[in-house]
Amino acid sequence: MKQIILFISAFLLSYACAQKSVEFTPTTFANTITAEELKSHLYTYASDAFMGRETGTEGETLAINYLKAEYEALDIEGGMPNGDYFMPMMLNAYRESRTIEGNNVLAFIEGSGKPEEVLVITAHLDHIGIEDDGQINNGADDDGSGNVAILEIAEAFQEAVKQGYRPKRSILFLHVTGEEKGLLGSKYYTDNPVYPLENTVANLNIDMIGRIDNLHEDNPNYMYLIGSDILSQDLHDVSKAMNEKYVNLDLDYRYNDPTTEVFEFGRYVQNRYYYRSDHYNFAKNNVPVIFYFNGTHADYHAPTDTVEKIEYELLEKRARLIFYTAWEIVNRDERLRLKE
Ligand SMILES: [Zn+2]
Repeated sequence: MKQIILFISAFLLSYACAQKSVEFTPTTFANTITAEELKSHLYTYASDAFMGRETGTEGETLAINYLKAEYEALDIEGGMPNGDYFMPMMLNAYRESRTIEGNNVLAFIEGSGKPEEVLVITAHLDHIGIEDDGQINNGADDDGSGNVAILEIAEAFQEAVKQGYRPKRSILFLHVTGEEKGLLGSKYYTDNPVYPLENTVANLNIDMIGRIDNLHEDNPNYMYLIGSDILSQDLHDVSKAMNEKYVNLDLDYRYNDPTTEVFEFGRYVQNRYYYRSDHYNFAKNNVPVIFYFNGTHADYHAPTDTVEKIEYELLEKRARLIFYTAWEIVNRDERLRLKE
């Protein structure tokens, strides 16, 4: 009998050791990001009820309240100093020569080891509203896709927290307003940062990741990454390594060169994407950025940018890559280094 007990003990001990030697992977949490949930969020967020989410309108109010309710349901706190989710601001909509009121939405997961170092993940919550003839610009891709991706990424990190894997660094989920009026909400945040920009380790900005552009009809397994190696080689290397290890998308860097031409609204223009979405307000403050993007398409800034045209499996894959990259940035030992 004693021998049997010894034998069983030895067996259990070796089993426990074997379990411990298995390398930990964040895949369990990445797998909570699903096409089905992304779709379910987007069918609300980019529905007619949200009236095109123009900053300063009722559509924006509906959008920010939806985001807040989702974070509350996930038990993720507001990111303002008093714990609020909303960052109200008056914006100079210079193209329209008027001042409007808008709100960024901030949600925050505090880090366990280096809480003062913060990764910021952004998407613009606003879009271009309703046309004069009454057609609604739903903005399913632009940028409904980015907002729902952030909600799913936040859920994955919160699931990790619940299972004892709180990230080492902090994460700010930042949905900015006024992008369509000139990157105004992200400018307001970087002019009035809640978390010091010196301790902002990177910005991952998601703006349109649910569609396939003309250049990739034969290979939809892609995403454009813009800016990843401009301020920090570490950021580029982490991003590349996570893709190779977990996701295997074709990462297309052609728009790292702002002069590469693109066909937009019927003519060829220099892309200048590095300057055209919210990451630029971080980059100009020397915060390393990656801009995640699927390229433009015929429905760009048109009432035809609608939910049924989104590729949900692809959106899932792209969102998972951003999650893995974020995971590594917040959990690695060393902070991402800037280039000399
Ligand atoms: Zn956009």
